[in-house]
Amino acid sequence: MDKITISDLEVFAFHGVLKEENSLGQKFLISAELYMDVSAVAKDDDISKSVNYSDICKEIEKFLKKNTFKLIETMADRLARHLLISHKPLRKVCVKVKKPWAPILMPLDTVSVSVSRGWHQVYLGLGSNMGDKEANIKKAIDLLDKEEDCRVIRVSTLRITEPVGPVKQDDFLNGALHMQTLRTPHELLDLIGRIEKELKRERDVHWGPRTIDLDILLYDDQIIQSEDLTIPHIEMAKRIFVLEPMAEIAPWLRHPVLDKTMTELLEIQNFLQEVELHSE
Ligand code: ADP
Ligand code: MG
Repeated sequence: MDKITISDLEVFAFHGVLKEENSLGQKFLISAELYMDVSAVAKDDDISKSVNYSDICKEIEKFLKKNTFKLIETMADRLARHLLISHKPLRKVCVKVKKPWAPILMPLDTVSVSVSRGWHQVYLGLGSNMGDKEANIKKAIDLLDKEEDCRVIRVSTLRITEPVGPVKQDDFLNGALHMQTLRTPHELLDLIGRIEKELKRERDVHWGPRTIDLDILLYDDQIIQSEDLTIPHIEMAKRIFVLEPMAEIAPWLRHPVLDKTMTELLEIQNFLQEVELHSE
């Protein structure tokens, strides 16, 4: 990807663990690699379409003077996120914070921390089978989109699905959405849990009725297997009510484990369902 680089911008600010650092201040050197597509900008040679590096330098200075952080780790993380949120064309940012006067009573050149942050492409499964199902799903989408580090890009049509599994319950309304997020998979799982709680999802009956069910289907092309999180979602390739909306919003998207597109996975499940119906 194309990038613009800012090297060792000097900012005098008041970050640090020590009292003296907060009162006397010190110099920090900030470098930033700003990843974006510059081809459109280059074609028209038009600065209004670009991320103006002079503005970014001023923004970095303003941000680091307005906020106080104890650690340069936090400084780098928050600054990278701030730049990504406030400058739409940025896809990814690497920020390096150097501290030339680290108070360790030994001679050294600089101490530095580098972080790399970017927008991740995520697909979520949406479901509800209690109360006003459509309103529940819309509310969940609003709550997601309200977060400054989440951007909902596209929502599929919502469709009615008969419940699967042993529990007798009302029909579901199901769909899927495409969003971008700065959150890690586990941070996103926490957010989804909070939204489910806010919409008063009841967890009494496993696989029972729920006001809202939000599942992380895909997160970039990452494969994650941990105690509380499996990505791609473990059931997604078997569930027509997930594959239909996914094939609608991202037919070409490839499942990173099965190496099949959403359309191909849907065709397979439709075929299997037909075979099953004929054998009954
Ligand atoms: P289901 O979605 O299978 O009907 P639940 O929503 O009740 O069931 O399951 C929630 C639990 O599943 C969460 O506590 C979470 O830790 C775990 N989980 C594992 N992988 C995922 C994922 N990709 N998305 C959402 N939850 C997941
Ligand atoms: Mg779930």
